[in-house]
Amino acid sequence: MSITPLMPVYPRCDVRPVRGENCHLVSEDGRRFLDFASGIAVNLLGHSHPGLIGAIQKQAETLMHVSNLYGSPQGESLAKRLVDLTFADTVFFTNSGAEAVETAMKTARAYHQHEGNDERYEIITFKNAFHGRTMATISASNQEKMHKGFMPLLPGFKYVEFNDLEGAKAAVGPHTAAIMVEPVQGEGGIRVADDAFIKGLRELCDANDLMLIFDEVQCGVARTGTLYAYEQLGVEPDILATAKGIGGGFPMGACLATEKAARGMVFGTHGSTYGGNPLAMAAGEAVLDAVANDEFLAHVRSMGEKLRGRLEQFIGNYPELFESVRGMGLMLGVKMKVESRPFVAHLRDHHGLLTVAAGDNVVRVLPPLVIEDAHIDEFMEKLSAGAADYKP
Ligand SMILES: *Cc1c(COP(=O)(O)O)cnc(C)c1O
Repeated sequence: MSITPLMPVYPRCDVRPVRGENCHLVSEDGRRFLDFASGIAVNLLGHSHPGLIGAIQKQAETLMHVSNLYGSPQGESLAKRLVDLTFADTVFFTNSGAEAVETAMKTARAYHQHEGNDERYEIITFKNAFHGRTMATISASNQEKMHKGFMPLLPGFKYVEFNDLEGAKAAVGPHTAAIMVEPVQGEGGIRVADDAFIKGLRELCDANDLMLIFDEVQCGVARTGTLYAYEQLGVEPDILATAKGIGGGFPMGACLATEKAARGMVFGTHGSTYGGNPLAMAAGEAVLDAVANDEFLAHVRSMGEKLRGRLEQFIGNYPELFESVRGMGLMLGVKMKVESRPFVAHLRDHHGLLTVAAGDNVVRVLPPLVIEDAHIDEFMEKLSAGAADYKP
């Protein structure tokens, strides 16, 4: 037998983390890394945040899981907080981002089909989007590398170029139910949606009674300097998927919706065994305690501006390697003129620095949101050293 016990779907590198210390990771062989990847925008409080650990420990000792057959004081409390903090009137808790997106798509279809408009099921999505790895969420993405071997896809999706409002308008037809977009594309290469594009999508949805879904799984939960990125874009969605940072490392996600958008989500239409379990709710509460306040969000914006400023200055030293810096808050991307993946590996293997490659030859810089000036200094030192001895 040659297959490994862990199903070999990931090209794993030889960093084998066994311990986290705030913004650093320690690997099995004792090497220490500055973690500006944060488990791909998940560990927003770093790796050993006392508030998060304490909340999980306390809840684990009290009650970890009960079925959604019972009342949920823990879920009600967190849902109420999310409702108070966002556009939403109601929340469904999931265990992951893909499930949150699935719930969002089901909510949008149910909105129309609940009223007997069964012909309205199509969802318009955008090229280079990433929405997850389930059958429906890969179908929602036009990326062939995620489809290969898994055909047939689910029907009912139309793909349009990101930031192409005219293309989106042209794609709307009698079957359209919703438009789903990442306000900042993550896996696609830290591409920020244009203001006019997002505002135009909102108008297009209003004019045609379509649900506007924001996939904020990566850009949500304070990452961009506001609790959700849409707050900076001047429009509100009807439905929003959130996950990654929301549990600070505890697996958890949520689908947020307005009362109107959720009109089809009635008794018996949807469910999850684990979704909204007390342990996840405790993690979610601890994360909101830490991030959902002006002081923390101002910290993210200030660190984001500093880091971006330093990066913009720095890339001028290596015009043959780097093209530009883009993103919002602490969701930053450095676009390279060469392949980004080998450079990310070089920083990791030779300079003890963790970043993440993304599409369009971008190096994603996704530090924990609790970084301080010293972490930015350490990051810039490692990045400079990495660029200086890099041979593409
Ligand atoms: C990571 C991601 C997902 C999928 O989340 P999982 O927890 O891996 O299922 C969906 N949408 C976006 C934008 C993401 O970045």
